[in-house]
Amino acid sequence: MSDAEFDVVMIGAGGGAYPAALRLARAGLRVLMTDPKGALGGNCLAEGCIPSKAMREVITHLRAHARLTGNTARIGYERIVAHKDATQTTRYAQHAREVAAAPGVTLRKAVARFADRHTLLVDDDLGSTTVSAQHIIIASGADVFVPTLPGAELCLTSRDLFRYNPTLTKQPASMVIIGGGAIGVETASFFAALGTQVTILQRGPQILAGMDTDMVAALRALLDPGIRVVLDASVTAVERTPDGVRVRYTCQDQPLHEEAAVAVMAIGRRPVIPEGFSALGIDMDRRGIRVDAAMRTTAPHIFACGDVNGRLPLFHVAVRESLVAGHNILGRGTACDYMDYTAVPSTLFTIPAAAQVGVTGAAAEKGTLPGELIESVYPFCDDARAQMRGETGGGIHLFFEAGNLRLRGGWVVGIDADQLIGEIGLAVAAGLSAYDLARFPDQHPMAAEGISHAARALL
Ligand code: ADP
Repeated sequence: MSDAEFDVVMIGAGGGAYPAALRLARAGLRVLMTDPKGALGGNCLAEGCIPSKAMREVITHLRAHARLTGNTARIGYERIVAHKDATQTTRYAQHAREVAAAPGVTLRKAVARFADRHTLLVDDDLGSTTVSAQHIIIASGADVFVPTLPGAELCLTSRDLFRYNPTLTKQPASMVIIGGGAIGVETASFFAALGTQVTILQRGPQILAGMDTDMVAALRALLDPGIRVVLDASVTAVERTPDGVRVRYTCQDQPLHEEAAVAVMAIGRRPVIPEGFSALGIDMDRRGIRVDAAMRTTAPHIFACGDVNGRLPLFHVAVRESLVAGHNILGRGTACDYMDYTAVPSTLFTIPAAAQVGVTGAAAEKGTLPGELIESVYPFCDDARAQMRGETGGGIHLFFEAGNLRLRGGWVVGIDADQLIGEIGLAVAAGLSAYDLARFPDQHPMAAEGISHAARALL
């Protein structure tokens, strides 16, 4: 006997969960969302994209102010953190209003675990209740991965930097970042822009592995030259020193170390698998919970959306996956919506940003696209807005299919890269060609006019 029955139960209340919850409630279904945070937004809002980009916004403005006015006056780190905290508060209040306006949704500050394929135990401060569900969406996200390394506990993580009321409240004079992935490099660029001495220790032969290599090379040329990158560094231990930490590592079999005020562990995140899941006999793969294009696990009434399936751990991907699952629940067993990963923007919110979407030159060289791709480049040194902003490095790179000139992908490094990739991604998703882009009178004097400019260059 269960204490309550729902049409759909969500494990988690982040981007993989709440879009479907609100959609399904709008269609008249009874939905339970469970999350120990007791609020919508998941880790993106608690310690990820929102707080880190709120801080980046202030830092970017400080840089632009210094560049354009010559006034290099600093503001205290506490002001930057206060802006971040205020942004989080605003968004939590907005989400609370959204839940209040959706009577079909029950949100419980609780952790859910599986009893069987249709039953969950929902644990909160008052105890445990049994809940049965027709459908379940697992959206338990991912968590910072901390390796078993002597002294790993001495390192800060992105959570310590970005959560509400963070652990790090003062700007450190120096920082060692273990890991040269997106979080590591973004964090490096924020703190370097503030004047912290930053060193990245990266295990492999390049930072930002998996991103377009030409884009990464273009970004590296524009990153703060003060950021020191040590490649092929394998960290062996972290120790406390009177002034901070010492990170020991080997590089080409040589034992070396780096000292700094703080160390940040940023070697990746791992899916959070709810308790009891492994007993259900549902397939996992090396990335997380295995799903098909309809977001179904190998139990067709159980879906897995967002970081927990490890397909593409980005908030906007989680949102779309959540809606795909929601629509397929409304389809009552017949799939009517599918997830398409071919045109998903992927952005490095460094200073400046770098972003890519679709098939790009380096990917094509690896053989993912048969046939030839034609590249057209719009350099920002020729761009009016970039000139006005005094930020003329980088440019827009578009990749068209030879023959029909269909846009297959692109990357941007430099001014407005994070915004421009949306327009490029939409053009890729809509199957537009160089002819379509060339006919669109994109706005002057904004960097987006470079998109049609690059298309016109082929005609
Ligand atoms: P995504 O963007 O993939 O939805 P997030 O990591 O942003 O992922 O959010 C996942 C949320 O799931 C987090 O807020 C986390 O607290 C919550 N969560 C993790 N495990 C459980 C669980 N067993 N029961 C309920 N909520 C959970």
